[in-house]
Amino acid sequence: IAAVDAPADRRGVHAFLHVDAEGALAQARASDERRAAGTLLSPLDGVPIAVKDVLTTEGLPTTCGSKILEGWIPPYDATVVRKLREAGLPILGKTNMDEFAMGSSTEHSAYGPTHNPWDLDRIPGGSGGGSAAAVAAFEAPLAIGTDTGGSIRQPGAVTGTVGVKPTYGGVSRYGLVALANSLDQAGPVTRTVLDSALLHEVIGGHDPLDSTSIDQPLPALVEAARLGATGDLSGLRVGVIQEMSGEGWQPGVLTRFQESVDLLVKAGAEVVEVSCPSFVHALAAYYLILPAEASSNLAKFDAMRYGLRVWPYEGASAEEVMRATRDAGFGDEVKRRIILGTYALSSGYYDAYYGQAQKVRTLIARDFDAAFEKADVLVSPTAPTTAFKLGEKLDDPIAMYLNDLATIPANLAGVPGISVPGGLADEDGLPTGVQILAPALADDRLYRVGAALE
Ligand code: GLN
Repeated sequence: IAAVDAPADRRGVHAFLHVDAEGALAQARASDERRAAGTLLSPLDGVPIAVKDVLTTEGLPTTCGSKILEGWIPPYDATVVRKLREAGLPILGKTNMDEFAMGSSTEHSAYGPTHNPWDLDRIPGGSGGGSAAAVAAFEAPLAIGTDTGGSIRQPGAVTGTVGVKPTYGGVSRYGLVALANSLDQAGPVTRTVLDSALLHEVIGGHDPLDSTSIDQPLPALVEAARLGATGDLSGLRVGVIQEMSGEGWQPGVLTRFQESVDLLVKAGAEVVEVSCPSFVHALAAYYLILPAEASSNLAKFDAMRYGLRVWPYEGASAEEVMRATRDAGFGDEVKRRIILGTYALSSGYYDAYYGQAQKVRTLIARDFDAAFEKADVLVSPTAPTTAFKLGEKLDDPIAMYLNDLATIPANLAGVPGISVPGGLADEDGLPTGVQILAPALADDRLYRVGAALE
């Protein structure tokens, strides 16, 4: 509760956009009463949690890191948030993020960046840098993030926390303000693999309010984490993805990664090399598919339905109000992607760009299928570098996009992934991450292997 009483910019990290001290205290007191009465609602009843500001929260602001939603209070909870409440977790507040989850550094937030608790001059990753920083700075023991191309896993890697992107359809997207519907998944951000498994079991499962939700029970995640913690991985086949190393990868990241692979061998796993040749095109395909979906999703911010409304002059037409509002309300990165997306979808270009990207997406899924015939899980470093300096890549969108090289293929194919701490890089003493990927619906394997690496 100490974190709840603290100002939102505690220790200069700026993890939170909104702290609900009163609400969280009331929920914590109710949990204390349940504990005394022996009627706890779940294993996480009473454990406070921070929620990325892209999930709707009834009665609490939800900005998606954008000025266009400033002051908007949703009238309903996202399914993930409802499940947190039903399991008794006090909600501490809403965490900072790149505007509409577009970014890898949280610098694209309209409310100022979040700072990495390991070094306040560095980025905490993105887009969910607020959730990762809150957990890394001990401001919250648990957090929820969302991952469209790596926004849970990459912040996890650069802040030394655990982050999980579940199987697409494994966690409800109802109330998750969509960046790209076919890629988005909400998931846990925690300090340990077991914590993530416990949280995943709370938020996961079928939801009739999300048409892409999988109608199937979750695998036994907590059990898998406990099994992995015994350190025995005998019989497990681990594939090391060949395409994710070499030029552009920080040597200290690769050294720590190789040590993790050695640990897997020591735990009894059989390690094989796998090649996924289409992965080199994943970034290009993603930056056509994502802007296409995002440009369509963001059309609803029309100055009429939510948040901001700017009148350029009295008596302006609806179209002029809409134009002025979107110009003032959206930041540069959002505008860049809207332009890119509408261009890629325009007639005459659709087949050349969006159509081609969808074909690449299929090739990536096939690469995964082939790799998972040779291995039960795949591993790679989560991000090519450790946390970079604030401002370093802000004026170079391509350099920013490259941070997600290793994480994007999983979103394109819908498979689950986890990032676990890999140790500190020799060059700079900053956290590195190890990514583990599993076939769709086999999220339990992430927890088994992740726990074995802890
Ligand atoms: N950094 C990636 C992007 O900018 C991923 C974002 C995300 O996962 N939300 O699109």
